[in-house]
Amino acid sequence: MAGSVATIMDYPLTLNHLLGRMKDVYPTQEVVSQRPDKSVLRQTYAETCDRAEKLARALVKAGVKKGDRVATLAWNHSAHLECYYGIPAAGGVMHTLNLRLGPADIGYIATHADDRIVIVDDVLLPLYEQFRDRMPAHRTVVIPFGGPVPDGMESYEDFLETGDADIALPEIDETDGCAMCYTSGTTGDPKGVIYSHRGMVLHSMVGAQPDMLNFSMNDCILPVVPMFHANAWGIPYAATMTGAKLVFPGPHLDADSLIAQFIEEKVTFSGGVPTVWLGIIQTIEKDPAKYEALRGLRTVVGGSAAPPAVIRRFQDFGITVLHAWGMTEMSPLGTVANVKPHLATQGEEIYFDYRSKQGYAAPFVDLRHRDGDGNILPWDGESMGELEVRGPWIASSYFNYPEADDRWSDDGWFRTGDIVTMDSEGYVQITDRSKDVIKSGGEWISSVDLENAIMGHPAVKEAAVIALPHTKWDERPLACIVLKDGESLTKAELDRHLSIDFAKWQLPDDLVMIEEVPKTSTGKFQKLTLRNRFADWQWGADRRMAG
Ligand code: ADP
Repeated sequence: MAGSVATIMDYPLTLNHLLGRMKDVYPTQEVVSQRPDKSVLRQTYAETCDRAEKLARALVKAGVKKGDRVATLAWNHSAHLECYYGIPAAGGVMHTLNLRLGPADIGYIATHADDRIVIVDDVLLPLYEQFRDRMPAHRTVVIPFGGPVPDGMESYEDFLETGDADIALPEIDETDGCAMCYTSGTTGDPKGVIYSHRGMVLHSMVGAQPDMLNFSMNDCILPVVPMFHANAWGIPYAATMTGAKLVFPGPHLDADSLIAQFIEEKVTFSGGVPTVWLGIIQTIEKDPAKYEALRGLRTVVGGSAAPPAVIRRFQDFGITVLHAWGMTEMSPLGTVANVKPHLATQGEEIYFDYRSKQGYAAPFVDLRHRDGDGNILPWDGESMGELEVRGPWIASSYFNYPEADDRWSDDGWFRTGDIVTMDSEGYVQITDRSKDVIKSGGEWISSVDLENAIMGHPAVKEAAVIALPHTKWDERPLACIVLKDGESLTKAELDRHLSIDFAKWQLPDDLVMIEEVPKTSTGKFQKLTLRNRFADWQWGADRRMAG
């Protein structure tokens, strides 16, 4: 007897359902895009759905077969959203190229992925021309924002017109690939991950939940996080699923332009890396009365640690910063740091402690952390180990890169490379990336904890703490500090500030003033550059400005 077999339909979880829903349920909702010339394009969900379906048919007509990669090289705007839905509907895998990488890296990635068609913003053609020749034979479709379409390429608008209604779209299985991203390659070659329709649908459903990002059709959502960075954290899919108004900034990501768009479009939710928000809070604090309309805005911040001091400054102004953690390999959502009600009522200190942790796991994401010998560690808020994850939207391998299979443990968990503690409430706190932790005399010092504390000093704009070799202790911390204009800071003043929270042996041995912290293409501190720059550091030498 098959008595226990469920009597429920085997209904596929595909992005096509979300696409159809845009037109069926929220046809008049808006998608607003800022063009490169700052003019505004407004279209409805119904129009976006029609155009995405035309794109899908045009791609099928152009010969795209199931699993073929179709690349985008584009800013955040409605045509990119059409690609988010149209390419998967054609059976293709949308490969978002990271336009902040160097041309050689983008060329390597596009070749490795074997991209068949590239859909590119006209304003990005100068970048594209620098790596185009390195790619295998492919077709180029140009999204026109006013410039001419070069010979040998075709206009996106003309391309859509070839998507005749009688062209049949393929049946999509929920396990089919829909999108692809490469990690930024801060540790070796960039590595690609192919996401599945099922993973993306589940990721959207979970991401939109009240105690995750909390999306609703009453929201107006502006993803600052680029659509080429880990699916813009899944925001475009989750937002369209819930029927929210979507606003795209195009290439204008400076604080003034973003704030103007927040106010103009009445944005209720946004998301981006900490550096974006640092710029925004600095602008607001110069003239708070001018930015009253921003009160009530919610933001998700991730990609690297949101400094607790920044979270507080936003909160003081009435903007909520939700800290979240994830990875390209995880589609990317892993944890979010909403504060549970019984923790929110125990005083400000505790409340902000929880806000600045990386948070608890999303439903369906399993977490564990292990020490260097592979022992699973207790969730006691103190034991530090490498975080491992598994779940329905987490990669099970890299695309065509078996050399990195050791990122997965024998029992299938993905090793994140992040060193964490986990507490009895399930909150994860990242103490470091495994390659950045400072190993001093057999003890570990968290560079991230030091950075956060240093960035809490009123004279400091930004700070990165790096491990440098030391004859006696193996490694010791060096604090690389960017001061605010007109400020100064001595080692003794810094020590005094830090000794509230740190033991003497954990304090940086030296500090050096730098002009800015070098960042990766996705806004993370590039500590390798600093480690190389200060490789010959003489401990205890006179304080100096780095030249
Ligand atoms: P890449 O690994 O290519 O640099 P990802 O965007 O996938 O790019 O980065 C994932 C890593 O970013 C995580 O493993 C973690 O180290 C870091 N990260 C992401 N979000 C946070 C966060 N909220 N706090 C601290 N680190 C974070």
